[in-house]
Amino acid sequence: MNTRIDPAALEAAEAAPPSHDASDPTLLARMIEAGILVETGEDGIYGRSAAFEDVLERLSVAVTLLGADQNAEVLRFPPALRRRDFEDSEYLKSFPDLAGTIHAFQGNDADHRRLLAALDATIAAGDGERSDEWMDQQKPTRLVFTPAACYPIYPVIARRGALPEGGATFDVFSYCFRHEPSVDPSRMQMFRMREFVRLGSPGDVMTFREKWIERGSAFVKMLGLPFDIDLANDPFFGRGGKIVANSQREQQLKFELVIPVATPGRPTACLSFNYHMDHFGTLWKIDCANGDVAHSACVAFGMERTTLALFRHHGLDVRAWPDGVRALLWGDTQAAIDAALR
Ligand code: AMP
Ligand code: ZN
Repeated sequence: MNTRIDPAALEAAEAAPPSHDASDPTLLARMIEAGILVETGEDGIYGRSAAFEDVLERLSVAVTLLGADQNAEVLRFPPALRRRDFEDSEYLKSFPDLAGTIHAFQGNDADHRRLLAALDATIAAGDGERSDEWMDQQKPTRLVFTPAACYPIYPVIARRGALPEGGATFDVFSYCFRHEPSVDPSRMQMFRMREFVRLGSPGDVMTFREKWIERGSAFVKMLGLPFDIDLANDPFFGRGGKIVANSQREQQLKFELVIPVATPGRPTACLSFNYHMDHFGTLWKIDCANGDVAHSACVAFGMERTTLALFRHHGLDVRAWPDGVRALLWGDTQAAIDAALR
């Protein structure tokens, strides 16, 4: 597949109205009604039922099989980063609005009394918009929430010294936090991201990304979902962020696999394919075996979004999903993946 998409053609395609909008703005309400997602009262924070988790976990198994030939080292971290590493990551330069810091009470008895008094006042004020005065007693911890599943691994890899010959590939999975409350069910504040991350020479990582654009497409086709591969950019903050976003597009650093889910008129990014060039290699001082700065790329599977897309397109009763999709997720997953990769 040729991933060097002509930006002018792409802009024209994006400007054209979709011929048929297959998104469903009632999806969240229907899924809550059916008990598949559980309301908490907070936009973007949902409980997941057994039915939802079953699909998501089976997708994750399928992704593992899809990447079985990658010799990826599995690394799992809790959904928090060391604050120090977060500070060094430059995330706050680009996405200050999305980051979530973790605070905790660290005071003495007098502070505790102040905390409880402020809390009593908050609760006594009733059910309207609550005051956050009690939070004056909360102090920063040494942790922040993980914003993307690959973030915890770069400093860990850097500490190991130079990459082995041929680079290295990692398989990561984490709950992530992004402060972007929304009534769109596919824009959650806490969600799971599964990634394969490749570090190595520019050639190695570009080959990896192209392979995963193909594989991701084959996978979503197997899931019976309509999709497009689009040139994309990250939501860099502020006025300066527009320039960075434009440059990211010009250099074709980010592609997304988009599927109509719940946003009217706009398909949702369910997978992303990112080339970071030497950004993380330079930042974290990760070198290739020959001493060159490592380049990196990652493919990210949005687990909740892909699950939502399946419920959107195949219906709320998984027993009635198309045979091919049922065979892939509930049947011989290995055989289905092998067939698709051939
Ligand atoms: P990104 O780092 O923004 O490319 O995100 C990687 C993947 O995570 C995306 O392709 C989405 O599938 C998923 N994702 C990103 N933001 C959210 C969100 N707010 N809610 C649910 N999934 C998300
Ligand atoms: Zn990543």
